[in-house]
Amino acid sequence: MKKILIVGGGLGGQSVAIALRKINIEAEIVEINTSFNVYGVGIIQQANALRALDTIGVGQEAIRRGSPYGQVKMCLPHGHQIGLAGPPPSEKYPSHNGISRKLLHDILFEEANKLGVIYRMGLTVATLDQKSDGVQVTFIDGSEGFYDIVVAADGINSKVRNMVFGESKPRYVGLSVWRYPFKRHEDLDTGYMYFGKKSKVGFIPMTADTMYMFVVTAEGEDNPIIPENELVSRLKSCLKEYPVKIAQDAMEQVTDAKLVNYRPLEALRLHAPWHKGRVVVLGDAAHATIPQLGSGAALAIEDAVVLAEEIQKGGDVSDIFDAYMKRRFDRCMMVVNASETLGEWELMEFQGKSLPEGANAGALMGRTIGALAAPI
Ligand SMILES: Cc1cc2nc3c(=O)[nH]c(=O)nc-3n(C[C@H](O)[C@H](O)[C@H](O)COP(=O)(O)OP(=O)(O)OC[C@H]3O[C@@H](n4cnc5c(N)ncnc54)[C@H](O)[C@@H]3O)c2cc1C
Repeated sequence: MKKILIVGGGLGGQSVAIALRKINIEAEIVEINTSFNVYGVGIIQQANALRALDTIGVGQEAIRRGSPYGQVKMCLPHGHQIGLAGPPPSEKYPSHNGISRKLLHDILFEEANKLGVIYRMGLTVATLDQKSDGVQVTFIDGSEGFYDIVVAADGINSKVRNMVFGESKPRYVGLSVWRYPFKRHEDLDTGYMYFGKKSKVGFIPMTADTMYMFVVTAEGEDNPIIPENELVSRLKSCLKEYPVKIAQDAMEQVTDAKLVNYRPLEALRLHAPWHKGRVVVLGDAAHATIPQLGSGAALAIEDAVVLAEEIQKGGDVSDIFDAYMKRRFDRCMMVVNASETLGEWELMEFQGKSLPEGANAGALMGRTIGALAAPI
């Protein structure tokens, strides 16, 4: 293969572009936004995400610019610790790395530019015409191109997925997340999660000086829109449930509605196989998971690594894509399914319902995160 089109310049799209340039394939990204405007909170990277980033040459830089931390302390609202979450640190990787989304995006963007990835901003595909030896693509500005394959990395609402496989819509799971960035709290020696009756709150390091908070709540089955002028007061009131100092200090510091990132949680599974002809789907476009295991971006980056490895091995396009599916499907579904189960249990708790017999969130998290340590 010589020339590949990647639709979407998010974490998955840029990762696959980097991986392809490293095996000397021309990689062109079309990104619908005219400029990248990545919101100012952080992302959790477990050891498997760092391993995948390392494979494309940016793992150490992510650790350098981020904030490595240990296992997450799981606590009751007043601070009593009830468990630990996340992989134990290994010789090579910390248990976690917290990093601002913008910094991670910048690291990928810088590496991609160094390797000669072509970015075409403010653009997307209009039509895809699959031929036996490639895909003829027209773009919305009327320009055209011919590519060996097209990679759909355009996120949960993927236009390319819907064009090629028919319309599929994300499913709202009944939970929402509120996020807010802060100066790092003096008590933050690792990641923390506090489990309340109506919500769950997490504090995650982003850099040596910064952290972000996430709050998971159930805002209603009808997925209500929260007006901007209510964001600050509603986020503050979620924190009342948590007497622990870090949460009380955060409550005082939540002041700017523009910094509140409120988002209903959605999931999507594209049925297998995630390819048709010469179009292949990766990341959230194929398997958007709710963030209960903090692993969606990790999966997108792993997809990118595996797809490029299978392309490098060579063979027919259908064999390459089958090999990609074989290595990715079960692993991604394991995370999507476990995350949704954790989300269902959280929702039941927030609604005051009793959990199904045998429900054990700590065990499910431990099992799934443990399994992610296996080679990809
Ligand atoms: C609240 C929340 C918290 C999360 N926390 C974590 C975490 O801690 N750790 C973790 O690993 N994961 C986390 N995730 C998941 C993670 O954000 C996603 O899995 C990851 O961003 C997916 O990357 P992607 O490249 O597939 O898609 P995206 O990041 O969605 O990128 C898609 C790109 O395609 C572009 N695009 C869209 N449509 C088009 C089009 N038609 N044409 C061209 N371009 C287009 C978009 O502008 C975007 O740049 C979280 C998700 C949520 C919702």
